[in-house]
Amino acid sequence: MAMAWWPFFFFFFFVVAPFFLLTAQGTGEEEKKVVIDRFKAYLQIPTVHPNPDYSPPVDFLSAFGRTIPNLHIKTLEFTPKKPLLLITWRGLDPSLPSVLLNSHMDVVPAEPDKWEYHPFSAHTDSQGNIFARGSQDMKCVGMQYLEAVRVLQASGFRPLRTLHISFVPDEEIGGRDGMAKFVVSEEFSELNVGIVLDEGLSSTSARYRVFYGERAPWWFTIKSLGSPGHGSKLYDNTAAENLL
Ligand code: ZN
Repeated sequence: MAMAWWPFFFFFFFVVAPFFLLTAQGTGEEEKKVVIDRFKAYLQIPTVHPNPDYSPPVDFLSAFGRTIPNLHIKTLEFTPKKPLLLITWRGLDPSLPSVLLNSHMDVVPAEPDKWEYHPFSAHTDSQGNIFARGSQDMKCVGMQYLEAVRVLQASGFRPLRTLHISFVPDEEIGGRDGMAKFVVSEEFSELNVGIVLDEGLSSTSARYRVFYGERAPWWFTIKSLGSPGHGSKLYDNTAAENLL
């Protein structure tokens, strides 16, 4: 999880339950398998830094989005080869501020020789655990959004507000070519976003931990020194640890 770049109004960090809790519970075994297989297919796309190819995930997600009725799909490209996929479900009252559900397509590097299973094999063990880089951070979230919309549509639900789902590039390296350019674009202001749900922590149960943040009147720069590196490496003497 890279430090996010979020210069705009509210945002909510919310917690992700296992992928299937929201989308596959209560459905038949066959449908559950289709949902899990679709998630695994997304995980098998190696959108890994330092040189992720964003065409395959954009094509994959667009193709799935086209199978769900009433969705409008478009690709925005603020930086060459760094597309942002925007999927919209128009609400009953499109004049109201909209809801934006965001996730990033890229993942941090993975060293295959340090993994029990190849990080892009999406291997499933006998307990049903799926092993893949990005399974938690945060392809599970992106797929849950689409699967939830699919289930809601099938139930006949129509949202009052328009719902947008964005899949952004480059979050893990700061988002400057992704979300940063999106939020200052004409396309973004036309969305009239009122609330955003974004990345949080995964959960191994049906209990959600919710993080909440709102536009702050004051912004601070705090300097803290320590060993650099991604948080997942669990270094000692990191800047964040020292700050705490
Ligand atoms: Zn992340």
